[in-house]
Amino acid sequence: MIFIDGIGIGEFDRDKNPFARFLSPFFPEFIGHSNGPVAFDGQVVPTDPSMGVKGLPQSATGQTALLTGVNSAQALDRHWPGFPTVTLRKILAEESIFLKLEKSGKKATFANAFSPRYFTRPERSISATTWSVRASSFPFRMIEPELLNGEAIGHDLTNTFLAEMGFEVPIRTPETSAEILVRIAASVDFCLFEYFLTDVVGHSQEMDWAEVELDKLNRFLQTVLSKIDLNENLVLLTSDHGNFEDLSVSTHTLNFVPTVLWGKDRQNFAEKIHQIEDVAGSILGY
Ligand SMILES: [Zn+2]
Repeated sequence: MIFIDGIGIGEFDRDKNPFARFLSPFFPEFIGHSNGPVAFDGQVVPTDPSMGVKGLPQSATGQTALLTGVNSAQALDRHWPGFPTVTLRKILAEESIFLKLEKSGKKATFANAFSPRYFTRPERSISATTWSVRASSFPFRMIEPELLNGEAIGHDLTNTFLAEMGFEVPIRTPETSAEILVRIAASVDFCLFEYFLTDVVGHSQEMDWAEVELDKLNRFLQTVLSKIDLNENLVLLTSDHGNFEDLSVSTHTLNFVPTVLWGKDRQNFAEKIHQIEDVAGSILGY
C-alpha cells in the first residue's frame, strides 16, 4: 500500500493541476476524462474521501479511515487535520489494520524509516499511520540499523530530509528506494509506505516544487512496478484527500482521490472500493 497524502483527481487544467501540466503515466485520470491507460495495466477507482461529512476532508480523519475502515469523520462529526485526537487514537488502537493482520497471523510492516527523536514527540503530534502500527506489536524500522542497511526508506524517497536534519544517511535515488520497498514487501503479507510531501506542496501552491515531487514519484513507481511480481502481488496506491491537484488554492479540495490498483486480482479488488473507508476491509479480505 502506497499512501500518498493529499492527491485528488482534479481538472485537466495545466495552470493549476501538476498532473495535467507534467503528464504522468501513473495518474492519467481527470474529472470527466482520462488521458489514456495507466502504466503497468493499473486500474483507477475514483474514491470518495468525504465520509458523508460536510467540509474539506483532512488528514487525521482520512488516514484513520484508510487504516481502520471506520468512518472517523462521522465519529467526530467533523474532519480533523494533522494528527489524531484522543477519539481517533482510540479508533486506531482498536481497529488498526496492522492489529487485525497480526491477530489473523499475518506479517505486516511500515517501510518508512523513523528517527528515535520522533517517538519523543507529544502524543498529539504523532501521525495516524504511526498510531496504526503502534496498535500492533510489529516493530518500526529505524534509521539505525534498518535505513542504513537498506531495509527502510526515507519518506522523501531520497533521505535528503534526514541528511538536512543532521543524520548521517546515504542519499538514495527514488529508484533505489523503490528497490528497497519491493524487497521489504516480499518479506511480509502487507507493507505500507507513506509519502506526504505532495500534501506539503499542495499547501505551498508551488508548481516548480510539484514538478520535482511528481518526478520522484514517477521514477519510484516505475521501478516498484517493474521490479515487483504483479502476478503474485497487489499494489494499491491511495490518498486521504485532494490538495496537490489544485494549486490555485492553498487548502485541501473536495475532489475524489485516486485509488490505483496494479497486479493480482485488481479488478475484484477495485469493485469493493467506493470510499476511503472501504480500503482497510478490502485489504483484510484480500
Ligand atoms: Zn494537508
